[in-house]
Amino acid sequence: MPKPPTDTLRQVAAFGRAAVAGGSVAAPLPDDVEVSFEFFPPSSDGAEANLWNSIQRLAPLNPKYVSVTYGAGGSTRERTHATVKRLLGETNLLPAAHLTCVDATTQEIDTVAQDYWDMGVRHIVALRGDPQDSSGHYTPHAGGYSFACDLVAGLRQIGDFNISVGAYPEVHPEARSAKADMDNLKRKIDAGADQAITQYFFDTDVYLRFVDQARAAGIWVPIIPGIMPIHNFTKVANFSKRCGATIPRWLGDLFDGLENDPDTHKLVAASLVAEQCRTLHAFGDKQFHFYTLNQADLTYAICHMLGVRPKHPVGSDAGDRTNKKQAG
Ligand SMILES: Cc1cc2nc3c(=O)[nH]c(=O)nc-3n(C[C@H](O)[C@H](O)[C@H](O)COP(=O)(O)OP(=O)(O)OC[C@H]3O[C@@H](n4cnc5c(N)ncnc54)[C@H](O)[C@@H]3O)c2cc1C
Repeated sequence: MPKPPTDTLRQVAAFGRAAVAGGSVAAPLPDDVEVSFEFFPPSSDGAEANLWNSIQRLAPLNPKYVSVTYGAGGSTRERTHATVKRLLGETNLLPAAHLTCVDATTQEIDTVAQDYWDMGVRHIVALRGDPQDSSGHYTPHAGGYSFACDLVAGLRQIGDFNISVGAYPEVHPEARSAKADMDNLKRKIDAGADQAITQYFFDTDVYLRFVDQARAAGIWVPIIPGIMPIHNFTKVANFSKRCGATIPRWLGDLFDGLENDPDTHKLVAASLVAEQCRTLHAFGDKQFHFYTLNQADLTYAICHMLGVRPKHPVGSDAGDRTNKKQAG
């Protein structure tokens, strides 16, 4: 009697379907891919220079938008605002500002959102945020927005923003259940969010199942896969424990022995994530959100393998989408 397929066999079968559909890396390049890039605000002059070098390198790829993360606490908030302002003032890129509910009253958050609107920012990534203290336990601010769905509803009162929210293919770590988490995503969409960007994931099947479940739950907005280029496997593995992203055993095996071999690590990471994106593309995903970690090289290489190329040759005046006001 034939045995039922194992998970691995199912994955192989899924990849086979993707390859047949044109998803293998060797297949012709797609020409319909859109990308967005996420950056975090720099905390030192050196980090700032690195961020702007990365932005300049990636800008010619014509991203749909670039997003800037947000942390609770005065100086972190200021750095986000300063980065968004500089993007608006010195480049032709469309910035998306992240905003969270942590440690602020609704009035404070509304003021930030209104300032963004007045400045010309039209895209907000609306999040609950994570606690800044070491407890790891989130407590809503007494006078604040409790959860992301409340923030989305508040933003809708301020301006006609394009609003993105977070989604969790492997279920948010604090959710009572997968169903409760999907209900929460639905609440965010019903409150007025236009699309969801997912937490990163490495098991593509898990993401594809999640999208199917979201559609079955009546969520029809675009769900954009969050893509993590692996610059440092050890760091990504440690961070993944906190944010609930699984590191499959095969992924650990791939990077095993490369701890002190950055060149090979980079080549493996680029081909691995390009393959993941090509598989997702074969299943219908045309838009990818890259967690760049302010480093351009892997994201640039993966975009290249996805058929996303500079509109003009790199280095030509016309190809430099950053405005000439930009200094460095
Ligand atoms: C694309 C993306 C970008 C991000 N950018 C940032 C950033 O810039 N800054 C930052 O600090 N963090 C950021 N994060 C991390 C995010 O803040 C955390 O994952 C956070 O723990 C959850 O945020 P959320 O908006 O998904 O929360 P929510 O959608 O509010 O959900 C949080 C948890 O609460 C549960 N929940 C929701 N409503 C209720 C309720 N009424 N009762 C009980 N439980 C409920 C949900 O199921 C879930 O488990 C980002 C995450 C993603 C996916």
